[in-house]
Parts: sequence; structure tokens; C-alpha cells
Amino acid sequence: MRRAGKVVAEMHEACSMAARPGATTLEIDAVARGVLERRNALSNFLGYHGFPAVICASPNEVIVHGIPDGRVLHEGDILSIDCGAIIEGWHADAAITIPIGAIDEESQRLIDVTRSSLEAAIAAMKVGASLGRIGGAVEDLVEAAGFSVVREYVGHGIGRAMHEDPEVPNFRNGSGHKLRLKPGIVLAIEPMVNTGSDETQVLDDGWTVTTVDGGRSAHFEHTIALTDNGPEVLTLP
Ligand code: MG
Ligand code: MG
Repeated sequence: MRRAGKVVAEMHEACSMAARPGATTLEIDAVARGVLERRNALSNFLGYHGFPAVICASPNEVIVHGIPDGRVLHEGDILSIDCGAIIEGWHADAAITIPIGAIDEESQRLIDVTRSSLEAAIAAMKVGASLGRIGGAVEDLVEAAGFSVVREYVGHGIGRAMHEDPEVPNFRNGSGHKLRLKPGIVLAIEPMVNTGSDETQVLDDGWTVTTVDGGRSAHFEHTIALTDNGPEVLTLP
């Protein structure tokens, strides 16, 4: 999983460089495919319930699961990129939100707060702590900043499959919140944060999840192993 995690980090670095004004999300998907091929890794996104790409590309008001297409990115957009890799049957999964050129102050704050909420969640991932501590850390930080946490989509365990038990909600009293964390568990923690309401909707393509009020959304995710020495983030470069 460490090896798969390094590939995912490399995909994010390459996609971030490619995500400039004038680029399309389909071109960014091709960059991610190139990294997978060079590293002899498989995609856990391509073909997942029929998903047609190796990244989810979710601009602006899209929360998650955007399908790469001919949409051109413009200065001032933000783009969430979510992708994963499989090495010898072991999975990793991570997401980032990046600015396209210069962005407005609120969008930058949204990105900063969402990234910080993931960092707070990782710090709460301690041996013997309850799963609810992770979601609570996200919820407290995001609400103090005046943004809202998406509740309909959550993180997950990860290992031989991309999505394993338990669900990892980004709020305190979600499913499994009393579960005690033990060394060896690996979680994909992935806060999704909206500037406005937490309400979500799925578009007619059956995949693209957007905010209902048109406000922007950011998404950060890491795959993290809990060891006897604390959390180890597997999807760092
Ligand atoms: Mg993901
Ligand atoms: Mg995930």
C-alpha cells in the first residue's frame, strides 16, 4: 500500500502541473494514465461501476465524481482531483483541490480549511481513539470557519479493495463512531467541504455530485495506516 500510495502522490503532482487555464479535464486524466503506465500500476477508478476515467475531476460547484471531459479550465476555477492506484492487489486513494491560476479569497480559504480539516482528522487517528474523533475533528474545524461538511459522502477503509469497512464520516456522530481504532487499520479519510449549504445533488449522468446552491466545494483525501507509532500517511510524495 505504501508503493500504491507513492504512485497516487505522483499522479497528483503531475495532474497539478497540467491543470492550467486552457487545459481540459480529459487532458489531465491522460496525464494521470501516463503515471499509472510508467509505474506499472492499475487504476481502481477506471471501470468502477462503469466509471470511464482514472481520475474524478470536479470543478467549482462539483463536490465529487466529476467525469473528465472537454470542459476547459479557466483562471479563477478550483479543481478537485481524486484518483487511486493498485499495486500487486493493494489499493491507495487520495484527493486534492487546486487553484487554476489566481483565485478569489473565499475559494483560497475553502481550500485551506478543507486541507486543515484533513490534517486535524489525521492527528485524531490514534490507537484506542474512537472513529468519531476523526469526524469530530473535521466537523469542528469546518464549522468554526463558517463552511459546511458534506454528510452524504464519507471516507472508508481501504486495502485489498478500494472501499472497505468501516465508513469514515466527516462528522462526530456518524455510523460506527464508537469503533476503537487498532494498529493495522488503514483508512481513506476524505473531507468534502462546501462554502454554502451541505446539500448535494447528482446530475443526469449518474455520477457528478454538485452543491444544490451552486456554492463551491473542496475535497482532500489521504490513505493513512495506523501503526503502533501513530498514523502514517501513505499517499505523500
Ligand atoms: Mg478518492
Ligand atoms: Mg476515497
